[in-house]
Amino acid sequence: MSEYIDTTGNNTLGIGICARCSQKFPLDELESDVNYPMLRVCKADSDWYDPYRLPPRETEDIVLEYPRPDVHLVTVSVAPGSPAWPPSQFEDDGLQAPQQPPTGNVP
Ligand SMILES: [Zn+2]
Repeated sequence: MSEYIDTTGNNTLGIGICARCSQKFPLDELESDVNYPMLRVCKADSDWYDPYRLPPRETEDIVLEYPRPDVHLVTVSVAPGSPAWPPSQFEDDGLQAPQQPPTGNVP
């Protein structure tokens, strides 16, 4: 069954066929496909851009905003019993381990 397409008042009186759905449309309603410009398609069949045609996405800003300068860590090795060992912060109740190790190897 044919359908009459009234093209009066359009820029052109021509009628075209959509390359995807093969239906008749006035030439003014057909547009070039964005991915394949030689295809004339209707608005319902017009495609989006393929992702590889789009510009690359913006990269994330992974740098810290206020970085601190690098400072070398200072490590001090203090052995228990050495003069640099800090004194106990607790009162001596007689139950604590001696702060100064006994001299010599006591069995
Ligand atoms: Zn179509």
